[in-house]
Amino acid sequence: MNLNDTPAALLIPAEFEEGLARQRAAYLAEPNPSHAQRVADLKTLARMLKENQAALVDAIERDYTNRSDFETLFAEFFAVLDGIRDTAKKVKRWMKPTKRHVDVMMYPLAKNRIIPQPLGVVGVIVPWNFPLYLSIGPLTSIFAAGNRAMVKMSENSRHLARLLIEKIPVYFPRDKLAFFDETGGVGVEFSKLKFDHLLFTGSTAVGRKIAQGIAGQGKALTLELGGKAANIVFDDAPLDQAVEGIVNGIYFNQGEVCCAGSRLLVQESIAELLIAKLKDRLATIRVGDPLDKNTDVGAINSRAQLDKITELVAAGVAEGADLYQPACELPERGYFFRPSLFTNVAQSHRIAREEIFGPVLATLTFRTPEEAIEKANNTPYGLSAGIWTDKGSRILMMVRRMRAGVVWANTFNKFDPTSPFGGYKESGYGREGGLHGLQAYVRLEDR
Ligand code: NAD
Repeated sequence: MNLNDTPAALLIPAEFEEGLARQRAAYLAEPNPSHAQRVADLKTLARMLKENQAALVDAIERDYTNRSDFETLFAEFFAVLDGIRDTAKKVKRWMKPTKRHVDVMMYPLAKNRIIPQPLGVVGVIVPWNFPLYLSIGPLTSIFAAGNRAMVKMSENSRHLARLLIEKIPVYFPRDKLAFFDETGGVGVEFSKLKFDHLLFTGSTAVGRKIAQGIAGQGKALTLELGGKAANIVFDDAPLDQAVEGIVNGIYFNQGEVCCAGSRLLVQESIAELLIAKLKDRLATIRVGDPLDKNTDVGAINSRAQLDKITELVAAGVAEGADLYQPACELPERGYFFRPSLFTNVAQSHRIAREEIFGPVLATLTFRTPEEAIEKANNTPYGLSAGIWTDKGSRILMMVRRMRAGVVWANTFNKFDPTSPFGGYKESGYGREGGLHGLQAYVRLEDR
């Protein structure tokens, strides 16, 4: 039985209030944990991951109804460990007070320091698509900065939620870290708790509601939301390498990736050749059991998500774009969707504007770099983008003008948990990861 298809044990929002009161009292009793304590917390987090590796991977695989261990290990597990290791090494330097210059004429003998202090209790709301990376990952910065945390998982990652709710108390007291499941829409209550900071990762529609719901509460907010990334291919690009990058950009994790390269912008002079190469490559893609190491594209996470993808693909056809889908066999059981490639797409089409969150690529063409920039930035989102070209000077010119949080050159979907990640416009605000991620969780005091 898949837990995601059943209601979780009813969760009473009062548990949230009690959890917050407990954590806030602990914070007030010890508002500034020592450096040694912070590093110990990071090491405990890493130990929790390592000691439960098999069970965590298995829980995610079941939440997805099937997801390869390889994807979970490399896209989530090792990435989180990498971020923890890096932060544990650098946190002392990052949290060190900095001396400021004081005007001797105005304030003789005075000294001034900027001291980063913990905020208190941080709330974290997690989506289902990278549930370990997006629940444990943020704790790295939250703990390094000396805070406590309450984490609410998604209704679509219930096996993982149940496991973390059981395991975390073995490693951390509840007044430092507490995990909660989702049931009956209690996420709304959770988001309204008076945290000192709230990190929401999820869809733009829900992010907007949360921002409205907490307006005036005075709590800080990081929003990590949806995307509609452009993957731009110039005529001098290494085409075979670009094809692999495009395929990885949109079909990895079935396209259920916030920064998926869902819009392909290709220079007109090579459009025919590139599309022919892409179709050849798609003909070799295997859709099926992700536990089979030969599989490229697995099942969609839920019926609702499959329905949304189906509806948007139908809209693409109805609006006049040309659809190509390889004639691959789909397994009988599971929410599978054929990898899809649209050509002849106009910027006004829904498939070019809306986040589909599935294995669907919309192709547009351009003639000049100016046109590519204009089309790439012509979206309400701004999370990620990719550029494929042989010219270094063009890369430098393009990355400066792309309105996206992360821009890859001659590669795509490569994550560095030690670098800041986050969006522009309707993809959200705030950054996660490394020194810049940590800054969201400190208050700067001038002493
Ligand atoms: P979602 O917005 O439906 O849900 C995210 C979380 O919010 C879940 O825990 C859910 O229970 C909770 N939630 C739902 N409605 C709520 C409400 N009204 N108030 C408070 N909480 C509520 O998103 P999803 O389907 O779980 O995830 C997919 C979306 O997340 C995509 O849009 C994707 O682009 C985005 N995403 C963004 C990033 C990023 O780093 N920018 C990373 C992963 C996913």
